[in-house]
Amino acid sequence: MRASAPDAPEGRAEEARRTLLGKIGDFVLRHDLAVTAQNLATICGALSGSHPELAAALVRREAAGEPIDQRWLDTLARLDPDGHSRIAALETLSEKLDYTLTHLAQTTREAHSETSDHRGAIGVQIAGLARPEGLAQVLDLSRAMLARIEQVEAAMAKSELEIDRLQDSLARARSEADIDHLTRLPNRRAFERQLVAATIAARDRGEPLSIAFCDVDNFKRINDRHGHAAGDRVLCALAASFREMAGDACFTARHGGEEFVLLFSGLSREAAKGRLDAIRRAQAARVLLNRDTGEPFGRITFSGGIAEVCADADTRGALARADAALYRAKQQGRNRIELG
Ligand code: GH3
Ligand code: MG
Ligand code: MG
Repeated sequence: MRASAPDAPEGRAEEARRTLLGKIGDFVLRHDLAVTAQNLATICGALSGSHPELAAALVRREAAGEPIDQRWLDTLARLDPDGHSRIAALETLSEKLDYTLTHLAQTTREAHSETSDHRGAIGVQIAGLARPEGLAQVLDLSRAMLARIEQVEAAMAKSELEIDRLQDSLARARSEADIDHLTRLPNRRAFERQLVAATIAARDRGEPLSIAFCDVDNFKRINDRHGHAAGDRVLCALAASFREMAGDACFTARHGGEEFVLLFSGLSREAAKGRLDAIRRAQAARVLLNRDTGEPFGRITFSGGIAEVCADADTRGALARADAALYRAKQQGRNRIELG
């Protein structure tokens, strides 16, 4: 393999991979953990920042000075990155597609080998056409070849139909796996993918990227007072507000529970704060009614924490700072945005 110059983009990517591998290795040894696929996946998700919730949990654990042992890591691995069952469905579909494609390839290979055998046999017979039985033998061979071609065509048409059907299901399952079923916003899985892509794009362009964690204020009270189903409707209304007010320039996702996350590409944390504050004020001015009782839900506000991703060597630090800033916003009275 050709070695890359350290300051070329591929050299930097290789360096980043080496650094991440080193960090994972150090982590395993420092905490005396077993080298298992699950441990490595969990640690990689946390240290690379590709799984923000794992990253945030790790930062909290370290800050609290609590032990990082196998038991805790197992608990961490159980954090559901939103819909394992939907991911399992995707895997099943992929396997079916793979099987059908393999079958199609096998049919094609067999057809190819049979037609070349037939071609060879016909060639031999044509050479012997002068013999009285020669013509009849060529005709028999041609009929057999035609019949086989028809069979192969039928098998290929069946496989093609099956592939089309599976590809449709796969495309639907893929987009469903990225959508939160209650609010129809992108979910945490989609956010994590978007975060990686947006970070790479921002670094390439030398532009800032800001991330905002938003958490609905005193949401438990809404559930307690109006019931869980009404709480669900409030979450849907909030999601629609975020989608509408944040606009296309900003990626908005439901991070889980009553928490939303926004990615502001090209905006510094101060500029992102200006945008999020406008959304916060507009949301706080809205009056939502419980349509079952006609009773107002009261003022529904949210607090937010913002950090700039690109100022960090990795996204993990930015996620932790956004989370800490959100915590400060809560402590300082809610319905406010803090910078991290
Ligand atoms: P804070 O201002 O400190 O954030 O207070 P809070 O009451 O919002 O925070 P807390 O974390 O105590 O409560 C969040 C609540 O959100 C608890 C949980 O039942 C509720 N919740 C989480 N997901 C859903 C959901 O999908 N639907 C409904 N109805 N409630 C949810
Ligand atoms: Mg919360
Ligand atoms: Mg809350």
